[in-house]
Amino acid sequence: MKKDLSIIIPLFNEEESLEELNSKIINTVNSLGLSYELIYIDDGSVDNSLKVLKRIKESNNNINIIQFRKNFGKSAALSTGFKYTSGDLIITMDADLQDEPKEIPRFIEKIKNGYDLVSGWKKNRKDPIIKKISSKIFNNTVSLLTNIKLHDFNCGFKIYRKNVIKNIDVYGELHRFIPVLANQQGFKIGELKIKHNKRKYGSSKYGKSGIRRIKNYLLDIINVLLITKYTQKPLHFFGTIGLLLFIIGFIIGLYLTYLKLLTGSIQNHYPLLMLVILLIITGIQLISLGLMSEIIIKDKSNKYSIKKTYNKKG
Ligand code: UDP
Ligand code: MG
Repeated sequence: MKKDLSIIIPLFNEEESLEELNSKIINTVNSLGLSYELIYIDDGSVDNSLKVLKRIKESNNNINIIQFRKNFGKSAALSTGFKYTSGDLIITMDADLQDEPKEIPRFIEKIKNGYDLVSGWKKNRKDPIIKKISSKIFNNTVSLLTNIKLHDFNCGFKIYRKNVIKNIDVYGELHRFIPVLANQQGFKIGELKIKHNKRKYGSSKYGKSGIRRIKNYLLDIINVLLITKYTQKPLHFFGTIGLLLFIIGFIIGLYLTYLKLLTGSIQNHYPLLMLVILLIITGIQLISLGLMSEIIIKDKSNKYSIKKTYNKKG
């Protein structure tokens, strides 16, 4: 059945916070007078999360639970939630009470100002310092690479119009880049400063030490390059690097030819000759790779997001 609002909550071993979270959300949503549904995605929890959810569900028909067979990750959980929603507006939020349900009305108000997606910004983030610093570097880099003016791409608290989630494909670890994916389809993105709480129970599911997080962020940045530059114009991405290497190789090659003609021998320049060969071969390889990728993405690139069609009747 169609609803005004769907709230999707991915969770992995969050037994302690679910009850409190649920009653806070329901209190807030009830005060708005909207029809709603809550979709909890149990991402393979091994604690009592599912038990708690089942108990909560008994007293409220608007609650839905999807249980994964094993831990598939937050992207998979969100993507599955998106598939099951029937709301016009969709909110995603974390289950650990770090996001404050009281902010829900502010998100709804903000998206009504003409946005398709509004992303939360944990301005005053209540996380360990290493996480704050690495996340800041990450966000600045992604913002620079994508030209999207957001401070907190990875914030779990967001609101979407239905069209956005029907048009983006979240898999792997792409949940960190939902705004990038939406922006690529031409959706209008806004930002809302939100309150952020300290994690009350349990610990972060992405490791306490910053090291793993930093490694993930680095890989993610390569991923952003691939999503934005590579999938749109692979030939430009690979081709530019390839062409550059080829040209440098070619110029040095010309110089060696000139030396050979002038002095009759380039025996002292064999290392340079090796470099020429390496540059030219690598350059050609990269250009070919770009061409190959163009062929591969040819079918996919027709997936453009249509806002509206205006047809003559009859
Ligand atoms: N989560 C999930 N699957 C995972 C890891 C995390 O569903 O494999 C959920 C988690 O239960 C929480 C949200 O994603 O509701 C954000 O995770 P967490 O709070 O650990 O991340 P952090 O706040 O440390 O960035
Ligand atoms: Mg958290």
